[in-house]
Amino acid sequence: MASKTILQIVLDTPLDRVFDYLWTEEDRPQVGQFVVVDFGHREMVGLIVDVKNETDVPDDKLKSARSVRHQLSPVSPQWIALCQFAADYYQRPLGEVALPSIPKNLRSGKTTALDKALKKLQVEHKKQQGSVPPVLNPAQQLAVQHIVNNSGFAPSLLYGVTGSGKTEVYLQAAEQILAREVHGQILILVPEINLTPQLQGHLRARFPELTVATLHSGMAEGERTLHWLAAHSGKARLILGTRLAILASLPGLKLIIIDEEHDPSYKQQEGLRYSARDLAIWRARQLDIPVVLGSATPSLETWQHTISGRYSKLSLPERAVELAVLPKMRIVDLAKDRPKEGLTISLITALKQRLEKGEQSLLYLNRRGYAPVIACDACGWMSHCERCSAYLVLHKSEKKLRCHHCSLEMRIPKSCPTCGNADIQPLGRGTQRIEENLQEFFPEARIKRIDADSTRLKGSAQDAFESVHRGDVDILIGTQMVAKGHDFKNLTLVGVINPDTALFSQDYRAGERLFAQLMQVSGRAGRSGQKVGGSVSEVVIQTRYPQHPLYHALKTHDYPRFAKECLAERQQAGLPPFIFQALLRAEAKELAIAIHFLQQALELEIPDGIILHDPIPMTLMKLANSERAQLLIESSSRPALQAFLKNWLPQLRLLKPRINWSLEVDPVDI
Ligand code: ADP
Ligand code: ZN
Ligand code: ZN
Repeated sequence: MASKTILQIVLDTPLDRVFDYLWTEEDRPQVGQFVVVDFGHREMVGLIVDVKNETDVPDDKLKSARSVRHQLSPVSPQWIALCQFAADYYQRPLGEVALPSIPKNLRSGKTTALDKALKKLQVEHKKQQGSVPPVLNPAQQLAVQHIVNNSGFAPSLLYGVTGSGKTEVYLQAAEQILAREVHGQILILVPEINLTPQLQGHLRARFPELTVATLHSGMAEGERTLHWLAAHSGKARLILGTRLAILASLPGLKLIIIDEEHDPSYKQQEGLRYSARDLAIWRARQLDIPVVLGSATPSLETWQHTISGRYSKLSLPERAVELAVLPKMRIVDLAKDRPKEGLTISLITALKQRLEKGEQSLLYLNRRGYAPVIACDACGWMSHCERCSAYLVLHKSEKKLRCHHCSLEMRIPKSCPTCGNADIQPLGRGTQRIEENLQEFFPEARIKRIDADSTRLKGSAQDAFESVHRGDVDILIGTQMVAKGHDFKNLTLVGVINPDTALFSQDYRAGERLFAQLMQVSGRAGRSGQKVGGSVSEVVIQTRYPQHPLYHALKTHDYPRFAKECLAERQQAGLPPFIFQALLRAEAKELAIAIHFLQQALELEIPDGIILHDPIPMTLMKLANSERAQLLIESSSRPALQAFLKNWLPQLRLLKPRINWSLEVDPVDI
């Protein structure tokens, strides 16, 4: 029998298997190349994962592959192994992981010529001038040395207070590794698209002769293709991106840096529900390279790894800029200092002082819109979303009520839809209302709001942040978008409006997250040191629970104490990081149907060492007319949990549920 060439390929389909296709032409394709094939009635692009001489598929069923995408050089076996790991660990087909992480243009053959792409990136570069690195302080020096002197897999936590110069450690470690590794590449992950311009600026100024690629979800397809190719070809030596960049093809990868590693946005919340941080650790081990996790408030998982000795801890205990110290924390008791329009006298006085001195202030309220709900005093009617178990939020300037979960919009009713009462009132306040109130208190002040609503247009977030950096803004108000990472030079006051709701959340991670958010936002104040005659930088937190231990730890900037208490609680309650979890979710027209499916799942055989909890409705039970329930799976052993899921999922599929369901490994929102 004449030997054949059989290509084993994976495709972006829910079918978890490889497909065999015949290759009839002379040149034998390689693993890692992309091929065009007929699949059903469609033409699809697949990734070659193996090339063989035989197949079990009978001749009359065996189809020929159409063509190979020669324009795109093959992805490496290591990259395929990374995708395979992610697929196995998160229980998805390899094709669904590998193919969507390649830009569509490249898969479909609309290949931008690499030379052209690189030229364009280089031209952008030439505009930059070099910048002179500051002399590192001793703590920074030790951190850099530790990172660069460790060859091989070495995970470390760069635990540095806000403003301690973590970025400088990244830059100087990068510089040394790039100097040593002629074709080396460095991947830097940040939690927010809006942080990429700031860091990109630093990188381009510091490394004017190197190509920097960026990868995030806000890029147009053509642009993404360009940057992806620069990374894949090895020409881009520095790659800056959000979580999706962890799946980029990086043939020369020598160091991974994850800034603000605790940030929840490193976890993808749909489709392949991966943690970019966890994949980064795996990738670093696979390639036997160092990985640095930076944070002022590490995730408890990471902190626990430093306690157990799996990760090294590199500490930067002080702010880097001379005379810059951490801000003074003031906890203001709302029972004693009763707020007017959401703002206490303490906060108003502090704001006034900043305005008089020409310094900037930041007000943090993690709730956008004007008011979270409108209500009728006469009959108790409230603006419920008819499709979700949530309220419609008042967006006053757009004259709309909007659901933040399903985006349903309604006009604002003139009177109560139930009783006709004309006096319906907004309850509570969001960023828009605070903005309005502030303008009344301080008519002269230049006030800017930055949240998801004010920055819908492409580029508008960057413009807004630049105006703050330029000094065109006196008071900045915003959601967590403004809390992260920005290095505002003239900001001396942070006000936190209404943080209490998170204290009593059902989610056991809510406290950890609140603490991180408040430390983070506090860290925006006083970053360049007190100026002569200037204010002492401070943070004013308005709360009804001034005695709460979380605020106590915050007051003394004491993350280690907070972490110690949390970890003790978690250990006692049997929660992560001491156990491992997965979550099976189901949604249907009626809750009972969703619960029924989960109940069936519960009745399948469960091995020892695996605990399945009773199905319960999700906190946001109804979403866009679907009713949702979940079943929590736990084990004290990660391998046992993995083995169970691998065996359990095919059985769930056999139940042929006619509803939507999904599995999440290591869920963060429970
Ligand atoms: P972090 O990321 O830890 O919050 P940054 O990296 O933004 O802090 O640094 C805070 C500020 O300190 C920046 O303005 C940076 O330029 C400055 N800085 C960092 N290292 C030094 C140093 N060794 N000497 C002087 N200034 C420094
Ligand atoms: Zn009414
Ligand atoms: Zn809704």
